[in-house]
Amino acid sequence: MAEEPKETKPGFQNPVAGFGVTFKAMFKKRLTEQYPEQQKTTAPRFHGRHQLNRHPDGLEKCVGCELCAWACPADAIYVEGADNTDEERYSPGERYGRVYQINYARCILCGLCIEACPTRALTMTNEFELADSSRANLIYTKEQLLAGLEDGMVDTPHAIYPGTDEQDYYRGLVTEAAPGTTQQVAISKGEVPQEADSTFGEDEPASEKVIGR
Ligand code: SF4
Ligand code: SF4
Repeated sequence: MAEEPKETKPGFQNPVAGFGVTFKAMFKKRLTEQYPEQQKTTAPRFHGRHQLNRHPDGLEKCVGCELCAWACPADAIYVEGADNTDEERYSPGERYGRVYQINYARCILCGLCIEACPTRALTMTNEFELADSSRANLIYTKEQLLAGLEDGMVDTPHAIYPGTDEQDYYRGLVTEAAPGTTQQVAISKGEVPQEADSTFGEDEPASEKVIGR
């Protein structure tokens, strides 16, 4: 048996019904966000730009193990580890991350890398404004990703807290830099130690050849 045709509104009512949708929408609360003038607060566990964290004395938590790079499904992380020395120390243990890069042209902000990190060196911040017009600018280097210095910290490289070992850092026994801690010379980054004692007298600089990056 043939199906009964559906009852339709008379032809002149259809445009009116269409405008009815428009009129209803006009009185609804607007959802437009006035970005970037008004920024929405992100959720506390939002997956934003990464951060490489420090211990409370300023030494770096990254040990250059590359587990984050292996866990990344987008191949967005590049890590090169290197050995610490007593003269140039970046982390409390044997190794540190000498080169660390994240390519935000590839990263999908999934967070698998931070789950893989054994030292909680890598976490994610709430910062989401990562757009750029250049691919090169989207490759963030270690210097850009490393957390800033807080009270009680000294910038790396510097010596481990006297009388402690790497485990003590993870037990929370080191809460700030030891008194008198000073930054060491970053020879691996191209800094050069001062060459000779001053020839200009006690109040003059020790050498004309200053330490520079
Ligand atoms: S958030 Fe995901 S895609 Fe981005 S670097 Fe980490 S693992 Fe890779
Ligand atoms: S961030 Fe974590 S997982 Fe990645 S190299 Fe450093 S210590 Fe290893």
